[in-house]
Amino acid sequence: MSKRVVVALGGNAILQRGQRGTAAEQMENVRMTAEQVVRMIDAGYEVILTHGNGPQVGTILIQNELGARQVPAMPMDVCGAESQGFIGYLFCQALANCFLSRGVLKSSPVCVVTQVEVDAEDPAFLNPTKPVGPFFTEDEARRRMGERNETWIEDAGRGWRRVVPSPDPKQIVEKEAVTALVEKGYVVIASGGGGIPVVKGKDGGLSGIEAVIDKDLAAERLAHDVNADILLILTDVPNVLINYRQSSEKALGQVKSGDLEKFREEGHFRAGSMGPKVEATLRFVKNGGSRAVIARLDEALEALEGTRGTQVVR
Ligand code: ADP
Ligand code: MG
Repeated sequence: MSKRVVVALGGNAILQRGQRGTAAEQMENVRMTAEQVVRMIDAGYEVILTHGNGPQVGTILIQNELGARQVPAMPMDVCGAESQGFIGYLFCQALANCFLSRGVLKSSPVCVVTQVEVDAEDPAFLNPTKPVGPFFTEDEARRRMGERNETWIEDAGRGWRRVVPSPDPKQIVEKEAVTALVEKGYVVIASGGGGIPVVKGKDGGLSGIEAVIDKDLAAERLAHDVNADILLILTDVPNVLINYRQSSEKALGQVKSGDLEKFREEGHFRAGSMGPKVEATLRFVKNGGSRAVIARLDEALEALEGTRGTQVVR
């Protein structure tokens, strides 16, 4: 039986550092990423894709701010949904074109606009930490805080920026539909940007909220909910490092989850970047997954085969 893998793509899969983010640039990056994905499919893996959306949803938020004098601005959940459609479209087309040119027989890829349930009582709602959208001056930021229920902070000397809560993902709302598509042989793109955060009301109904879910933690939920064998987190570095940026820096190859947990407790992994990736791998193997891997995008297949990247096992 072929192994089922959830592949979480980092920001570099869609936009490279220093690029402006034109449609052509993003399409070209996605085309190159699709080649890596097709290498895994060609080798016999059943692949489900998820991806980040930071720069893309940031752009959509700016467009909404600037356009608000003429047309109503959309809330964050709607902007998140737009970014999933935008990025999902690029991947569907690039993957199909790559299947065609390589002669791989595959059904056309499909993107599922995905909601992810979070707990309305999640402590993250008391402490917004995730910066989103445009930079404002202090005066503008203070005016916004006065007018609306928003938190703005000074962001490392670059100006003022809105921060939103980053609650823990509980489950993928569309998990049954995603699993059914995977079982029919479709390559599915789901839970982009960590998914659209929703909370359940007393009547069981869902509603979108102003928050951002970490995409690596949501990838772990997706992998769990579709019963994946492997969680593969692809980024722009070949390994997880301990003693990061010190002379004693060391790359981790195969590592037992207990040892990785110890390194985490010693503070080796930064909150906004490697921290959530490590946490996602630990949760995945703890919840019964057989292996979780963190590796560089262009070593994806080698990482699946165990010869590259950081391999987290129980
Ligand atoms: P992605 O878009 O793939 O989620 P991030 O920027 O969030 O990318 O995370 C990857 C980055 O994490 C790397 O480029 C690296 O600079 C940084 N990083 C922080 N701590 C570590 C660590 N301990 N080992 C390796 N990389 C680390
Ligand atoms: Mg990240």
